[in-house]
Amino acid sequence: MVTRFAPSPSGALHLGNARTALFNYLLARKHTGRFVLRIEDTDALRTQEDMVAALCTDLAWLGLTWDEGPDRPGGYGPYRQSQRSALYQQYFERLESERLAYPCFCSSLELDLARRAQLAAGRPPRYAGTCRELSGSERAARVAQGRKWSLRFRVPSGQAIEFEDLVHGAQSFLSDDIGDFIIRRDDGSAAFFFSNALDDALMRVTHVLRGEDHLSNTPRQRLLLAALGLPAPQYGHVSLLVGDDGAPLSKRHGATGVRDLREAGYASAALCNQLFRLGHSTPLNQMLTLPQMASAFDLAHLQRAPAHFDLAQLRHWQSAWVHGLSGEQARAWLDPILPPQLTVSQSDAFIAAVLPNVVLAEDARLWQQIIFGEALAFEEPALRTAREAGPEFFAAAANAVSERPDLAALRSATGRKGAAFFMPLRAALTGRLHGPELAPLLAAMSSERVRARLLRFATV
Ligand code: GLU
Repeated sequence: MVTRFAPSPSGALHLGNARTALFNYLLARKHTGRFVLRIEDTDALRTQEDMVAALCTDLAWLGLTWDEGPDRPGGYGPYRQSQRSALYQQYFERLESERLAYPCFCSSLELDLARRAQLAAGRPPRYAGTCRELSGSERAARVAQGRKWSLRFRVPSGQAIEFEDLVHGAQSFLSDDIGDFIIRRDDGSAAFFFSNALDDALMRVTHVLRGEDHLSNTPRQRLLLAALGLPAPQYGHVSLLVGDDGAPLSKRHGATGVRDLREAGYASAALCNQLFRLGHSTPLNQMLTLPQMASAFDLAHLQRAPAHFDLAQLRHWQSAWVHGLSGEQARAWLDPILPPQLTVSQSDAFIAAVLPNVVLAEDARLWQQIIFGEALAFEEPALRTAREAGPEFFAAAANAVSERPDLAALRSATGRKGAAFFMPLRAALTGRLHGPELAPLLAAMSSERVRARLLRFATV
């Protein structure tokens, strides 16, 4: 089992591609196979060099370690397509010498006009075959005129192209519906259909999971590999990722980049657990590690329907991750937010108070300020609740604050219980009516601070 992830470095790693990478990674790990990272950067205009490093950073952060890739030599490199031109050239020459490919001199203007004419005549646009049968001297004349040329694959006529898609099942296409297509651009670079299919074969890739938008490319790629006498991998085309409105996931759905989510504070484990369940069903509802996901990953559970990405679900997994942190991990996680010079028991008390209410580490910042900060900002309803409780209530409560303030002592001193006790207390101590449980909150605050905040409402 050899799988691969083959991003084009024209942008940052978005969730759709991250899920593709995860699925290929899991499939390889499940079968103790190889997982290859190949950078598809033959299109110099669209390649952004800094994106290559960014893609690798994002994949590594997700934990999707590749066995072979640009920085990890293997037996089938190089792993950046921009470094494979010499190799491609051999195959171009072979196809040309066997008359399986031919030079095409059509300009983009000519191609565009032909396309429009076909559309106007109600026919699907397809290469009209203008340069298909040019003689040697006709070609030479065009070359002499200085015309640029690309290389087109000669699609065989009258063939049925049939294959089993790992997700969509039996597929059947007719070669007559496919026009001759470009395999080398007029600047000499390899076109996607060609380099993508050839490299899969040369890198011995056995299984390709990729986006559904590539399903219609597969017949062309299979024809090409058949012409070269090379094996085609088994393809599985995974469903599109859509937002909550059913439209393909895009910027307007908020953060959809792996880096954006990382910077917002999500844990990679939370993101992987969410991606694992997008378009792949599993009976397992608990948080899984990557090895657990690998053993549970099942091609038969890949779904055809579009998969909905929902931030609320990601937050669910993030909460599950937070709740699974050990004391030490939680301390390390919240370290950037904890004030300096806290003792271990102070930070533990703080963590015990806020952790159940925190999804992102940043959420703890507010409570850090409430618990350790001098000034307290009051929300209007909280201020009202505290005032309505009356000065006697707070005087009695403040009086009962000991070295280690506890709720039971305050309750009996005030003689109130239930909401009439909790709400004004919470309001005076935190400036708001909602938040973490009161007992651990109280335990996390110094007794001087508790007393001072209560005394503030003890006078009219
Ligand atoms: N470079 C292509 C892409 O990013 C790869 C498609 C494939 O996985 O075959 O869409």
